[in-house]
Amino acid sequence: MKRIYTCFLILVLLLCGGCSYGKTQNENASSSCDIFAMDTYMTLTAYGKNSDRALEEAENRINELDKKLSTGSPDSEIALLNKNGSGKLSDDTLYLLDKSLEISKETNGAFLPTIYPLMEAWGFPTKDFKVPDDSVIENCFSLFDTDLINENKKEGTVSFKKQGMKLDFGGIAKGYTSNEVIEIFKKSGIENAIINLGGNVQTLGKKPDGSLWRVAIQSPNEGDEYLGILEISDKAVITSGGYERYFEENGVTYHHIIDPKTGYPADNELVSVTIVCDDGLLADGLSTALFVMGLDEAIQFWQNHSEMFDVILMTKDNEIYVSDGISDLFSTTYEMNVIER
Ligand code: ADP
Ligand code: MG
Repeated sequence: MKRIYTCFLILVLLLCGGCSYGKTQNENASSSCDIFAMDTYMTLTAYGKNSDRALEEAENRINELDKKLSTGSPDSEIALLNKNGSGKLSDDTLYLLDKSLEISKETNGAFLPTIYPLMEAWGFPTKDFKVPDDSVIENCFSLFDTDLINENKKEGTVSFKKQGMKLDFGGIAKGYTSNEVIEIFKKSGIENAIINLGGNVQTLGKKPDGSLWRVAIQSPNEGDEYLGILEISDKAVITSGGYERYFEENGVTYHHIIDPKTGYPADNELVSVTIVCDDGLLADGLSTALFVMGLDEAIQFWQNHSEMFDVILMTKDNEIYVSDGISDLFSTTYEMNVIER
């Protein structure tokens, strides 16, 4: 079913997707554009006079970032660094490295940018999936230490002190990209926009009619239209779930968000984590991290950082937990618990 749906989406994108940019636009203009980049489908919609030009610029920026950050393209900056163990990085990639190290520290290693050797061991980058032997996982553990990343800020170079270490920004790249798109929109004078990078949404301002954007959060349950609806303005709404990329072996499902402590896909009460935050990059990093933490730790983490973000958690038994900063703006047909500060 999933495959049929994906094929259909590709077909729709091929038939009516892509971006065509006009020349003259009035104040009530709107422009929309579908892109396939970073291994996912993206839709950008902007309103106002310069929306065509802003979308064109945004599309170029997305493709530029995709080229730099894609671990899968052999000549990307990150792939070359991973292959050679050292390299010169652009400001974008250095910024992502610094931010990912900050988030890693703050989340006590639940978010781990050095996870890539383990992603490879599970076969996620090549889709040649397998459950790794314990000895392989043990070896990956020895490559996790972020203190072994050497960064020369003046030269813009990075090297690993241990052979085999590799970086992965898959958990934050889309969030950084959505921040960058929103920045381009702002600089172009756009005041109302919504972008969706494979289920990760970021909004600028409100809808052109002054009402809030209504963002449908994807549900992990097949057959569900969505998990709930959040009414929001000027925020990133970013979800991590084990249902997005996974494989099955001997009746067991293994997904793509790995708990660095066990070396196995995070396996706790949570099936979905949505972070609502001004900053898309932070939202993306935290969605991955809180998914790894599990329900109690995620709630505690939010309580300690409630000024920074809001959260919507869903558990295996279909209970929803929403932080009190957004509970009035969220509607769902599931049983909902409000998390207090
Ligand atoms: P998605 O990219 O599907 O929206 P996430 O934002 O949660 O979902 O990112 C998952 C990706 O992050 C994985 O595909 C992998 O590249 C990377 N990753 C997996 N586990 C971790 C982890 N514990 N810390 C940091 N990155 C991770
Ligand atoms: Mg993430």
